[in-house]
Amino acid sequence: MTREEQREYMRAWRERHPNYYKDYGAKYRAENPDYYRNYRAAHPEYRASIIRAKQQRAIRQKTIKESLRCKSCGELDIAKLHFHHKNPREKERTIGQVWGHWSDEHLLKEIVKCEVLCLQCHFALHKRIGRQGITIDE
Ligand SMILES: [Zn+2]
Repeated sequence: MTREEQREYMRAWRERHPNYYKDYGAKYRAENPDYYRNYRAAHPEYRASIIRAKQQRAIRQKTIKESLRCKSCGELDIAKLHFHHKNPREKERTIGQVWGHWSDEHLLKEIVKCEVLCLQCHFALHKRIGRQGITIDE
């Protein structure tokens, strides 16, 4: 069996048994109700390492913002900078909500849909174009 054939076989198998993995997991959890609690108790460093990784990602992603400035007035203070979605229909999430949660790649894909404005310029823009308005680059 070549790699391709193997992949195709597995795909067909999953199609014939759509609930196999779901049922297996549910059955396992029913038989071992304390598994996750015991695991967490036995590996206290595991949770801490996940939290640390998230914090580091948030710090790393914040440095993206430090390299930016308001497109309209040049403001540099990162506390005052907003990401304005040029087309609200393309918007998946507000950048501030996903900071440190999304991967770098996913975050950058969202950021390219935006332009950077300070909060005053952002509010002024929305006063002009309305809440759902699309920004046309001049
Ligand atoms: Zn501004």
